[in-house]
Amino acid sequence: MSDAEPPDGADAGSPGTDAGGEFDPVEPDTGEEFEPVDVFPDSGDFDLRPGADSCYKCSTCDTSCPVAEVDDDFPGPKFQGPEQWRLKRTDDDHEVDDSVMDCSNCMRCDNACPSGVPLSQMHNTARGQYVDDRMSTLSVEYWRNRILANYRTSAWFASKAPRVANVAMNFGPARWVMEKAMGITSEREFPAFATETFTEWWARRGGAAASREHAREARERRSEPADADKRVAYFHGCYAEYNTPEVGKALVRVYEHFGYEVVVPDQGCSGTPMFANGMLEDARRHAEVNVPSLSALAEEGCDAIASCTSCSMALRQEYPELFDIEGIDDVAAHTFESVEYLRIHEDLVSEVREAEVGDDLAAEFAYHAPCHARNQGLDRQAVELFRDLEGAAIEDVGESCSGISGTYGWKDEKYETSMAIGEEMFEHMHDADGETGMTECPTCAMQMEHGTGYEVRHPLELLEAALVD
Ligand code: SF4
Ligand code: SF4
Repeated sequence: MSDAEPPDGADAGSPGTDAGGEFDPVEPDTGEEFEPVDVFPDSGDFDLRPGADSCYKCSTCDTSCPVAEVDDDFPGPKFQGPEQWRLKRTDDDHEVDDSVMDCSNCMRCDNACPSGVPLSQMHNTARGQYVDDRMSTLSVEYWRNRILANYRTSAWFASKAPRVANVAMNFGPARWVMEKAMGITSEREFPAFATETFTEWWARRGGAAASREHAREARERRSEPADADKRVAYFHGCYAEYNTPEVGKALVRVYEHFGYEVVVPDQGCSGTPMFANGMLEDARRHAEVNVPSLSALAEEGCDAIASCTSCSMALRQEYPELFDIEGIDDVAAHTFESVEYLRIHEDLVSEVREAEVGDDLAAEFAYHAPCHARNQGLDRQAVELFRDLEGAAIEDVGESCSGISGTYGWKDEKYETSMAIGEEMFEHMHDADGETGMTECPTCAMQMEHGTGYEVRHPLELLEAALVD
């Protein structure tokens, strides 16, 4: 049959073919107007019951779950997600199983599902329902989880007297009491609070006005137009603010090196630890600060960048999945991870290839890609970027989960599971050359330090050492 010939039983240009003879499916003419069947008449954007039907029980999600791999009692993501939501479909009052609190919210299952089942949205929603309906607000577990989830509040208090907090939080008897009274493991050392927060440094340096001037000078040096519209909003999150301001400072200096003015908008926590603990109302309160602030800047053409991959993940995916706040889709569409953004908009690879690092930073790094970086397709970017950097070597320590998953590994009853999950990563770090780790996630960094004793750096710190004078 020639290309011009219609398929059997059809004329060229008749219903079922286009003029070129290609098959063009059309609705059958039944003589009646087509009315789709509304399977779930009450379902809206946030109703997850229809999503359960996309699951065809292949169990790929279960095989990707790091908790299920080490904990035989954990039923896995297929049960937590589509199976529970199917039960909810037949019984609106079906109670969420308490095992949902054993999910670490690593979101690996979300990435693994070939059928697009909204697993993490199902888990987050189910956890929120479990906390609302089944967890007593008088229980120690509730308050322990709430304190861990609202790390920003504790860190804010600690930042008022960081030296005292650093001694007090790691005082042996105090850790013992926290474990016995609150269920916060005494196995881990609390991360040190910085003596100057990122935003204190930012204000002392002159804020956005100083950044504008640094960016203008850099554009002049780079022979770029002085009026180029290069401005980004930095979402520093809680950890770069209170614990590792050096990461925030590195971001500012690297972006200014590329001629970007950095602005630091009003912001709260991204909500990541709150989602993981089912504290959705706390997360919403913070989202109601972040969304208006970032969407107003997005409207002016100013994208948001985050140095923590869990923060960028929350703003991009969890926000629109869980909340209906004006501007939330704009924020999701205009948020990027910090290195990712430079890879998109600048010739970062060429600049790094021509740079070199001196002796002030370690030469060999064992790199771990956080699960939330993996979900955003960013798991290879640091290794690819630094592969040709003179004076540094970077080795990927594999695909395993670090096991800490934010607040999960801080819970006394989860500590052993967390360390069992991390074991593979620890082994690969020990096998790698060098004794410095690298990752984008602050809690993965805690686990890497805890399991190996290595110091851990952020890719932005290596970029700063390579590119900024
Ligand atoms: S991977 Fe997706 S389709 Fe397969 S069992 Fe899990 S939820 Fe269902
Ligand atoms: S989010 Fe992680 S821990 Fe939770 S069910 Fe999915 S893979 Fe397992």
